[in-house]
Amino acid sequence: MAGRRGPDHSGRAITAFLLAATLAAVCVGQAPRTPACSLARGELTVEDLPAGSSVRDCPVVGRVVTHDGAGLAVPEPGTTVSVDSLTADGSAHGFTLTVAADGTVSYAYEAHTEAVRGSRADAPAPCADSAYATAGRKAYGTYEWFLGDGHWPGGISRAGARRAFEEAVATITASRNDCGLDDRVAAKARYLSTTSSKADIDRETRCMRPDGLSVWDAGDLGGDAVATTCSWSRPAPGGGPEELLEADVRFNTHDHAFTDDPSGACTAAYDLRSVATHEAGHVFGLAHSGAGHENLTMFASSFACSTSARTLGKGDVLGLRTLY
Ligand SMILES: [Zn+2]
Repeated sequence: MAGRRGPDHSGRAITAFLLAATLAAVCVGQAPRTPACSLARGELTVEDLPAGSSVRDCPVVGRVVTHDGAGLAVPEPGTTVSVDSLTADGSAHGFTLTVAADGTVSYAYEAHTEAVRGSRADAPAPCADSAYATAGRKAYGTYEWFLGDGHWPGGISRAGARRAFEEAVATITASRNDCGLDDRVAAKARYLSTTSSKADIDRETRCMRPDGLSVWDAGDLGGDAVATTCSWSRPAPGGGPEELLEADVRFNTHDHAFTDDPSGACTAAYDLRSVATHEAGHVFGLAHSGAGHENLTMFASSFACSTSARTLGKGDVLGLRTLY
C-alpha cells in the first residue's frame, strides 16, 4: 500500500510555507490576475477563493477552504468534493466544491444553514412525506468500503460496528422502508475488511486529501457534528449524476455517545444504526431533506435515543429511485 498519510502540524506549516513561497514566485512581478493570487497563508474561506477562480492561476489544490463550520481541501481538477455533517441541533454544515477540468472553481451550498429543527410531531409522518434532495452524484458500480481498525467507545465492539454499518448500507441499497414501497433501487455495496487507513476527515470537520479508500471510522469532529461524510466524485462519461470515487464516514465519538441498543435507560446517546443509515444515504448521493421534514432519515439532525432513521421514509426512497 502506498502509505500516504495526512500532514501533521509541522508538515502543514511547511506545506503552507512552500505554498506561500510558490504563490509569491508565481504572482510577484505579474499583472494582477485573479483574487486567488493574493491569498494569505492558512485556511481560506469561500470568499477568499470565489467561484470562477482558477487553480491554474494559483496553486491552491490541497489548501483548505472553510464555510459555516465545515471545510475541505481543494481537490485536483476534474474532481468534486462534498462535506455533509449530521448535527445535534439541526444546523446544516455542508457544502460542495468542484474544480472543473479547466481548473475553474465552483460551489454548491445547502439551502438551510440555520438551526432549523422543528417538532417531529408537527412534521409529516415518514410515509406521508415525499421530500428529498439529491447531491448530483451516485455510485455507478459497487461501493466497496473498509472499517477503521480503531477503538469504538460506549461498549460497541468493532464487529458490532461492522454489523451495524453493513445493515445501514443495506437499508440504502435495498431501500428498506415501512411504507410498503418496493425496492426499485439498483445500488450495490460490499464490505471489504478492516484497515489501518483513516477516513480522510480531520477534527475540524474538514475533508482532506482522499486516499482512494472508502473508510468508516470513529474519531473527533469539530463543533456539534455527530457524524460526517466526505465524498469525492468526477463527471460521469455519459453525463448525468457524477461518479462517486470515494466516500468516507466518521462518527464523532469524542463529543457524542453512541449506542447500538437505545432502549431502556438511553438519555443522550445516538443510535449507531440510525446515524449510519443517514450517512449511507449521503454515500449513495442523497442530500438533506430540509426543514419541516424531521421524520425522514435524511433530515439534517439526529435525535438521541431514536431508532426511527434505521428505516427509510417515503422521500428517502423516492430520492434513491431518481438516482438508481
Ligand atoms: Zn447529513
